[in-house]
Amino acid sequence: MTVGLLYDSTRCVGCHACSQACKEQNKLPGEVQDHTTAYTWTVVKEHEGAFVRQMCMHCLEPSCASVCPVGALHKTKEGPVVYDAKKCMGCRYCMLACPFEVPKYQWDRAVPVVGKCIMCYDRVKEGKATACAEACPTQATVFGERKELIMDARERMRANPSGYQDAIYGIKEVGGTGVLMLSGVPFASLGLKTGLPEEAPPMRTWQVLSKIPDFVAIWAASLYAIHWITKRRDDVAKAEGGE
Ligand code: SF4
Ligand code: SF4
Ligand code: SF4
Repeated sequence: MTVGLLYDSTRCVGCHACSQACKEQNKLPGEVQDHTTAYTWTVVKEHEGAFVRQMCMHCLEPSCASVCPVGALHKTKEGPVVYDAKKCMGCRYCMLACPFEVPKYQWDRAVPVVGKCIMCYDRVKEGKATACAEACPTQATVFGERKELIMDARERMRANPSGYQDAIYGIKEVGGTGVLMLSGVPFASLGLKTGLPEEAPPMRTWQVLSKIPDFVAIWAASLYAIHWITKRRDDVAKAEGGE
């Protein structure tokens, strides 16, 4: 079973309850920003009267996890793509590889790590909905099994064919995503990336890696890297302990 989120722009009233609930659930410092950051994992933007959420799409075959040399990002069996700061070596390949420009770096920290939505994985494991879905007053964001969300989306479109674009964003993009989106206006006019490839991303991510000059050097220097990663893990643990 793969879980995910359905976001329906036509039902979204731009209240930002989802962004605020995410902050609280994940204990992210600071106010909700107007763009995603390492501490604001989801935002709601307005484009000519229509709203759109921005967040990690939880790709079925995530490029971020494919390029991560140390397995700091990984796709869980339930669906969320999660992150382990203690494994992260701070190389930022995930930021280059993500087709949706999601992972953000803690530029303000002495020992920066990456921040991105983890689909409230602790809640998901307990059988609960994500905090954003629970907070949404209009069912613009709903949590559930991906297959059922697709059926829900199709039913919404069938009941109001003139109210929706005739497509579900995320069904095919980059091999499919755990976050699915409906819109009343063209997806491009919401700022969503269109024209993305339909093939599974790993091929693409290896193309990305081949363009990273340090890639070969990193693997060649693997013994040194292991030592360095261990040190960084300690630094991250100390930095987290000091917060
Ligand atoms: S949207 Fe980006 S960060 Fe999220 S799972 Fe896909 S590749 Fe990874
Ligand atoms: S920055 Fe961290 S999570 Fe991203 S690819 Fe590098 S090691 Fe993996
Ligand atoms: S909580 Fe729901 S209605 Fe409010 S901004 Fe988020 S998705 Fe839109």
